[in-house]
Amino acid sequence: MFDLLKLACNSATRAGCQFADARYLSIRKQRVVSRDHALSSCSDGDDRGFGVRVLYQGAWGFASSPTYTADEIEKVVARAMRIARASAMALREDGVKWAPEPALTLDFKSTCRQDPFAVALEDKADLLIAANEVMLKNKSIKRAQGFLSFKRVQRWYVNTEGSELHSDVTSSESAIWAIAVGNDDFQERDWKAPASNQGFECYRKQEFLDQAERVAAEAEEKLSARLSPEGDFDIITDSENLSLTIHESVGHATELDRVMGYEVSMAGSSFVTRDKQGDFRYGSDQVTLMADNTLENGLATQGFDDDGVPGQRWEIVRDGIFQTYSSGREFAHYIGEERSRGSCRADHWSSIPIVRIPNLFLMPGKTPLSPEELMADVKHGLYFEGMDSFSIDQWRLNFQFGGNAVWEIKNGKKAGMLKAALYQSRTPTFWNACDATCDENYWQPHGVTNCGKGDPMQIAQMTHGAAPTRFRKIRICRGRDS
Ligand SMILES: [Zn+2]
Repeated sequence: MFDLLKLACNSATRAGCQFADARYLSIRKQRVVSRDHALSSCSDGDDRGFGVRVLYQGAWGFASSPTYTADEIEKVVARAMRIARASAMALREDGVKWAPEPALTLDFKSTCRQDPFAVALEDKADLLIAANEVMLKNKSIKRAQGFLSFKRVQRWYVNTEGSELHSDVTSSESAIWAIAVGNDDFQERDWKAPASNQGFECYRKQEFLDQAERVAAEAEEKLSARLSPEGDFDIITDSENLSLTIHESVGHATELDRVMGYEVSMAGSSFVTRDKQGDFRYGSDQVTLMADNTLENGLATQGFDDDGVPGQRWEIVRDGIFQTYSSGREFAHYIGEERSRGSCRADHWSSIPIVRIPNLFLMPGKTPLSPEELMADVKHGLYFEGMDSFSIDQWRLNFQFGGNAVWEIKNGKKAGMLKAALYQSRTPTFWNACDATCDENYWQPHGVTNCGKGDPMQIAQMTHGAAPTRFRKIRICRGRDS
């Protein structure tokens, strides 16, 4: 596989580029979806091709093709060079300052004990339909659904610096959900099975059946939930709920390309301007947010990024203070860093790499603390579980998040379910209101597989995580009136 990619780099060098890299990807994707007593759809696709990126006089050119032959390589390099030459004519400044990186040889393979593509479709259907039938046993449940989704990406990467890299990453994702109807209302409750860089081994039938029963019961309970109170309350978020808040208010806010204005027209900029690096108080001293593209089974763990930089671990926020950004080789110089953080990824062989959120998580508390102890110190508050509607402004500053299930807390204990509850805050206000997070025994990862960024849009995946965490005096509002 490497030979034709080297041909591309050699050809680009002869054409006068400063730097070039070439990637060949083989992508297999399968998705099985169930609805009530049957499968509603099943897709299985194979997709292969390569992309060549050239840097010429400070400007990029990129071209790609599904036809992997020596002739086509030459044509694609020539096309990429034409684009780079044209782009170089329009440069307003010096152009790309490319952070150096030593030549690297690496072969990365994710953990996959049971190849999901070797598991029979009947077994996948059986798992999902059995869970649906458990949910439908509950008379309030009028629709039960689920899906299993698998991806295997094999990647070969070569650049003009002499790097030769290969990765083989299998990831799996699944969820089930129930819709209850009654009481002049309908309500949905879901369970997300682990989404991670693992194989079918992470899905066990008994766990699906147990979760299906709980999900159905809680969907039914939501029908008679009280309307949420409004005002300022202490809140506790579970790992899954906080994962989305971390994603939106920290992950996207600290992508260096976004900060530098490269994403403004698509999904906004960021309030975390470069002058904040090293001394801005992002949160309370309980808040340490770790980026880690070496996290075991993390969805962004792939050995190396699409700039040819190995996965790294670094602090975005330490004890509440903002440390540094996610970056790629093109952006490191903007903050005086000599090396990229290795977080530039492309979602396809026909896509260019862009800075993506790494695996990013809130570190657990250092002293022993259980969710019950965390809740015991809340007189009147709300407990948010799972993900629901959310919105955040174009500066990643003002936001609101709901929960898939929300409980009222009274005198330190859960006291019934609430509906339509949303928490509203500003990013630094929210993270500064964090006064405790449970210890490592309660820390859980949560995979995100639908992160959209770029124009044209690219979809990335990464893992977040947290232990149940408490925030004091957060504004609660209602998403609906009745
Ligand atoms: Zn996202």
